[in-house]
Amino acid sequence: MMKALLINPQYEKGYIHSARWDSITISGTHWYPIFLGYCTGLLEKYNHECRLVDAEAENKTDAQLIGMAEQFKPDFTVIYISQRGFSDNISLAEQIKEKTGSKIIFVGPWCSMEPEKLLENKVIDYLISGEFEFETLNIINGKNNSRHIQAARLTSEQLNELPWVTKVYAKHLNLKNYKVSSLWHPFVDMFTGRKCYWGRCIFCLWPFTILKGGSYTVRNIDDVLDEIEWAVKNLPIKEIFMQDDTLSGERAELLADGILKRGIKIAWSSYARGDLTHTPEILKKMKQSGCHCLHVGFESGNDELLKRMNKGVTTKTLETFTEWANKAGIDIHADFMIGLPGETEETARNTINWAKKLKVATYQFAPPKPYMCTPYYTWLKDNGYLDKEGNPSLPSMNYQRMVDLCKKALTECYFNPAFIRRMMFKPREVLRIVRSAFYFARYMLFKKSDLPNEED
Ligand code: SF4
Repeated sequence: MMKALLINPQYEKGYIHSARWDSITISGTHWYPIFLGYCTGLLEKYNHECRLVDAEAENKTDAQLIGMAEQFKPDFTVIYISQRGFSDNISLAEQIKEKTGSKIIFVGPWCSMEPEKLLENKVIDYLISGEFEFETLNIINGKNNSRHIQAARLTSEQLNELPWVTKVYAKHLNLKNYKVSSLWHPFVDMFTGRKCYWGRCIFCLWPFTILKGGSYTVRNIDDVLDEIEWAVKNLPIKEIFMQDDTLSGERAELLADGILKRGIKIAWSSYARGDLTHTPEILKKMKQSGCHCLHVGFESGNDELLKRMNKGVTTKTLETFTEWANKAGIDIHADFMIGLPGETEETARNTINWAKKLKVATYQFAPPKPYMCTPYYTWLKDNGYLDKEGNPSLPSMNYQRMVDLCKKALTECYFNPAFIRRMMFKPREVLRIVRSAFYFARYMLFKKSDLPNEED
């Protein structure tokens, strides 16, 4: 039996990187370190002693993590690295290694970006690109000794072999630490399957990194339902979020049917694409089974931009999807971006105006993040459109202008009388809106130069 310490380190207070992209949070958003959670469960299944620490959610400093490592004396330390905090990750690894002699394993999407360059840091004993759970187990079991491992995509059999992540959360984490403004609190999340079944949007992190290659891989639906039943019975939760990059209409229907058949009472949400695979009938069933919110990438109100970003939907399909979801009584959390190929002042203004007309429950506006490995990054680099900090800077607008337009968009959308009127008819929403408005006002007052992403 080996001892493994699995760490989601904190870069700075309010900075999160266990979601689909790293960001500053304005409303205390914290997603679970889901991949590390599955990895912890798998190592424990094979009788290794594990500690999972989410320093981001627990606001733990590197000094505290080092203190924990000194006490626990891990044989292996698994660190989920971040783009912005990489030099801190290296320093944390060096100190843990120096004080405990632990081997260091780096994991996460950022391990797919220039792995050779990352490995110039001698402190890294192993670097795993891709889904890292089984390869971490192989390393710890002494079955793989390569310094850089390109993990193959997990098969359905392997996904079914992974333990229930909700049990891992309950054992290692404080569920109260995890909050997302569009979800009921407390919540847990889980994968019913991995990888977006579309997977082609040029800016999207996971399909080009940790879930690169292969297709949408799914768990046995009965196992998913068993886990949901267990979580509802044993955890003090109000909601379950399905972390599949996007839950297809077909998969959502299967899930809804199962929940209804078993009579499970729980609110649930997921990511979805506005590609109309969720028919009105499926959406109705989803609602009946407890689905209350879908997180959807709208991105732009301009069809030419949607085409250029390879979104695979049009403004028309997105409008129809919104109408159908509204009829079914399901809320939409709508994501938009300003700064994709072809963006101008005019297209950005059209997007803001369009967003205001859509009947959605929450908004998110952000400039896209150029991650290496994505076609968006390559396009920016090839055209000389990256600024000194690595942010997008187009001839038509620089990064600061994108940030300013996103702030403007959020202000206009949330203070839009039609939006306020709509939300006032949802009594359960009032508290959430007041809280979001408070955080947003605080953010506007104190944070001028960056913009939150992902679920704020
Ligand atoms: S639909 Fe969403 S998850 Fe899928 S590739 Fe596009 S942005 Fe990524």
